[in-house]
Amino acid sequence: MTQETALLSTSPVTGEMNAPVRKVFVKTYGCQMNVYDSDRMSDALSRDGYVATDVLEEADFVLLNTCHIREKAAEKVYSELGRLRELKKEKAREGREMLIGVAGCVAQAEGNEILRRAPAVDLVIGPQTYHRLPEALKRARTGERVVETEYAIEDKFDYLPAPDKAKTRSRGVTAFLTVQEGCDKFCTFCVVPYTRGAEVSRPVAQIIAEAEKLVEAGVREITLLGQNVNAWHGVGADEREWGLGDLLRRLGEVEGLARLRYTTSHPRDMDDSLIEAHRSMAKLMPYLHLPVQSGSDRILKAMNRRHTAAEYLALVERIRTAQPDLALSGDFIVGFPGETEADFEDTLRLVEAVNYAQAFSFKYSTRPGTPGAELKDQVPEDVKAKRLERLQALLTKQQRGFAEACVGREIDVLLEKPGRLPGQLVGRSPWLQPVNVDAKASQIGDIIKVRITKAGPNSLFAEMIEEPRARSLTA
Ligand code: SAM
Ligand code: SF4
Repeated sequence: MTQETALLSTSPVTGEMNAPVRKVFVKTYGCQMNVYDSDRMSDALSRDGYVATDVLEEADFVLLNTCHIREKAAEKVYSELGRLRELKKEKAREGREMLIGVAGCVAQAEGNEILRRAPAVDLVIGPQTYHRLPEALKRARTGERVVETEYAIEDKFDYLPAPDKAKTRSRGVTAFLTVQEGCDKFCTFCVVPYTRGAEVSRPVAQIIAEAEKLVEAGVREITLLGQNVNAWHGVGADEREWGLGDLLRRLGEVEGLARLRYTTSHPRDMDDSLIEAHRSMAKLMPYLHLPVQSGSDRILKAMNRRHTAAEYLALVERIRTAQPDLALSGDFIVGFPGETEADFEDTLRLVEAVNYAQAFSFKYSTRPGTPGAELKDQVPEDVKAKRLERLQALLTKQQRGFAEACVGREIDVLLEKPGRLPGQLVGRSPWLQPVNVDAKASQIGDIIKVRITKAGPNSLFAEMIEEPRARSLTA
């Protein structure tokens, strides 16, 4: 018997007396939505006596929460499964059991294929069925190889337990909250509509209740998540149909919640009410991730983005008029099928015109099952690599310029965690940059006024100029 399985408890779900305490190791790939999902799956398993571990070798259950967005991301999962297979064998030789599960978008897209390609896998579970994970794991422990990828008719959020206060606190003073899942946009390069399904918005009351619980446990900043977060809609307490702007205004009333963010937005869903929230809500941070993908109208059309470069620029102008201090972030794909040098130059021109504070850029990756994969004019890898290098050089220059323009500014920073040096804490600027500042550990969760003294390559440095304006909740 291993040291960890010698610990005994009672499972609140099964009521099993003396159920062994088991350890789960969760590895998360991809976007923030996966980070949120991993926490919710850990919370669901904790009701069955599983405790989280970050030591792989200790785990009785290893769960990979995967990403399918680009080929590289999906292939990484199979390499990791190869390594886990060896660990599983080693443990078996010592008489210890280790189950392996695959969750997330690779699980949804490949289902049974994973069991075929990776014989060590015991369990495959798609994003819409996470509430069934404890049950599926129980079946896997009896030797069944389980695949749970059918879309559930029930709402998983009605079944997934909220974390307790202590657990929420241990995760820090900032938190993610998924408000919307799936996508109906069908960009021709993207797997999300197939792996995450149709667009669904969570109801207002459910979101408010979750936000209030987070804040009660000491969370000061919430980032609302969705594959298409600004497509969120729902019926408000006033019986009106609300959009994301209304939801943000309602969340702004939650006492103790100091900061709000949201990601990722589609340009087509940036409505007036949401832009107005950027003008009028001090709690809504002046940061917007608004992917454009390309600056060429021809490519935007082929991508089915449903807007032109000029429309995107006009939208940026409107949002900046509402909130002049806004930091803009974006996503770009280079080498979409048919992209010529002239199309790529259009992208560089758009980037010059916008001046991004932050950006993510990728080489186009062919995803089986998407319309883009069927297109003839695939761009050679070396051309994609050269374009990506040029684009990233420009984006890095802009990002650096944005950081340097912060030097000398007096800003509010939410202190999040200890820094690398003694006596140093790391916080976030309103524009999401990490800020290193000398402060006391007891100040984590406080918002302090600082003066930015230096801009490093990935973070800012600052001195405190005012004691905390807003104390953290001591829930
Ligand atoms: N919903 C967001 C939007 O409308 O832009 C994007 C969500 S997607 C999960 C994140 C980013 O991955 C995209 O903005 C895009 O830049 C990138 N991406 C998606 N599919 C890709 C592909 N096949 N190849 C390369 N990058 C891709
Ligand atoms: Fe994918 Fe975003 Fe397009 Fe939806 S809007 S298909 S998530 S890139």
